[in-house]
Amino acid sequence: MKQVISVRDLEEMLRNGKDVRSLPEDALLTPSARDFLRDLESSGNSRPASRAMTMNSSPAKAVTSRSTKAEVEAFFISPGIQELKLQICDVGRRLWQRAYVDGNGGNIAIKVADDLALCTPTLISKGFMKPEDLCLVDMEGNQLAGTKKRTSEILMHLQMMKRQPKILASVHCHPPYSTAFAVAGIEPPTCMIPEFEVFASVAIAPYRTPGTPEMGKLVADLVDKHNTILMANHGVVSWSHLSVEDAYFKMEILEAYCRTVLVASQLGKPVKTMSPQQLQDLLKIKQNLGIPDPRYGLKECELCDNDGWRPGVTCAVPSAPASDSAGSVPPDPEAEALVKAITDQIMSRMK
Ligand SMILES: [Zn+2]
Repeated sequence: MKQVISVRDLEEMLRNGKDVRSLPEDALLTPSARDFLRDLESSGNSRPASRAMTMNSSPAKAVTSRSTKAEVEAFFISPGIQELKLQICDVGRRLWQRAYVDGNGGNIAIKVADDLALCTPTLISKGFMKPEDLCLVDMEGNQLAGTKKRTSEILMHLQMMKRQPKILASVHCHPPYSTAFAVAGIEPPTCMIPEFEVFASVAIAPYRTPGTPEMGKLVADLVDKHNTILMANHGVVSWSHLSVEDAYFKMEILEAYCRTVLVASQLGKPVKTMSPQQLQDLLKIKQNLGIPDPRYGLKECELCDNDGWRPGVTCAVPSAPASDSAGSVPPDPEAEALVKAITDQIMSRMK
C-alpha cells in the first residue's frame, strides 16, 4: 500500500533528524506536505519557524532572546522578518475588511525563533498597520524590539505557543457570528459542512479578563486538540502550524460556518446533517493534514453529537445499511436513543 505523507509526518522526521528527501519513491504527499517540502527546499532550512525568517536572507546564527541588542535589532529588520511583518499587516487588513475586528481590537502573532515572536501593537486598528508598527517579544512577553507597545493579549498567544510547540501563528479577533456562539456559551453544531469539519476544531474557554495569565491558561489548556477556540463573552483565537494566513483562514471558515448554521436554523425546516460515516471520512483527511481534533478514534456512533445545541438537529445515523443515508428523512431522536441503548447492551454482552 502506498504511504500517505502529511506535514505532521515531515515535521516528525525533521524532529528526529531524518532527511525528508529519503521518502519512499511511491509515497503520496498531501497538498500541504508538498508545499512544506517546496518551502523547505527553497529556504535550505529545516524548521518551519526558522524557515519563515530566512526566506530572503539567512542570518549567520540563530537569534534568541539572549542575543545582543544589536543582533536582535538586525534580526528585527532582516528581510525574512520584514516579509512576515507584511503578512501580519495583510491579515490585519483582511480582519478589518471582514468586520472581524472593531476599534483597536484583535491581535496577531507569529513565532519567529525558538523563544521569539512577532506581534501586533496595542491601540491601533488592525486594518491600518504598517510593518514598522509591529513588535518583537520573548516568550514571557518582554518587548525586545519595535517602537510601539506590544498588545497586552500577547500573553495568551505566547501561552498557547509554549503549550503546543507546533503553533507557528495565531490570530485573535471578534467575528460577530462566532462571537455570538461564544457569548451564548454554545459550541457550533457539527456534521453540516465539510470545510468546517476538516479545517476547524472548536472548543469554548471560560471568560476571564482579557490579557490576564488566567485567560491565557484557559485557552492554552485547549490548544492540543483544538485550533479555533471560542473565548466566552469575548471572541475567538485560532492557530496554525503552517502560516499566519492559514490561522486567518481558520477564522474565516469558522465565521462562515456559524453564520450559515444560524441562517439555516431560521429557514423553517429541520437542518440535515451528514452521516457519522461521512464525517469519519472527513476526519481521516483532517488527520492526514496534521490538524488536531478530539474526535479521532471515536466510534461512528459517538460522532455528530449536537445535543447541546438545539432541538431538531440530530445526527443522520442510517437506520438500515441499504437505506438512503443522505438523510432525506429526518431521524427520530427517540428511536435513535433506543437503538443506541440496545446496541450498547449487545456490545457489552459480547465483551
Ligand atoms: Zn479581544
